Amino acid sequence: MKGGMRFGAGRPGWHMKAEHCRRIDVHRFKREGMLRPGSWGWSWRDSETGKVLASIGVIGGHDRITLEYSVGGTPITEHINITRTACAYGGSRPWFNCPKCWDRVAVLYLRQSRFACRKCQRLVYASQSEDALGRTWRKQSKLEARLGENWSRPKGMHRKTRERILEAIWECEGIRDDALAEFAARLGFRL
Ligand SMILES: [Zn+2]
Repeated sequence: MKGGMRFGAGRPGWHMKAEHCRRIDVHRFKREGMLRPGSWGWSWRDSETGKVLASIGVIGGHDRITLEYSVGGTPITEHINITRTACAYGGSRPWFNCPKCWDRVAVLYLRQSRFACRKCQRLVYASQSEDALGRTWRKQSKLEARLGENWSRPKGMHRKTRERILEAIWECEGIRDDALAEFAARLGFRL
């Protein structure tokens, strides 16, 4: 990868906001077809300009994916195991296993050159109250209303506009998935 990525080291003990970190979302990876064998790529874009801010290589697989990226010129390879749980209505949903604590999570965050779950990265959401979770639903239904059936692009909408809307929807889903996993863990369940 040319140039590599640069990230602030972050002060130890300083709780960053999850919203400000580079993140990967297992649902998004699934939707984009990256949880199957092959070489894929992932980029983070500026939501205003669409400019690529950083990117990683992804070697896909059903049970494991490999992330390849570089930070400050140092190449890093990280393996992430994928587990699947059965859904009530058939099929299965994938989870990332955090490479540090092995918890099942929907979202991994990149911080100090490694991907790990929000807890391991000591990230906090701006607000984790029930209100905040309710807001993600309301926000999501508003976003979904702008799209066609199955999140398709309505006639006349720019491709980039749809991508931005999807990005925001995935953000909403990721926040709720993590909150759900955390809640279940507190009750002693494993999702
Ligand atoms: Zn973890």
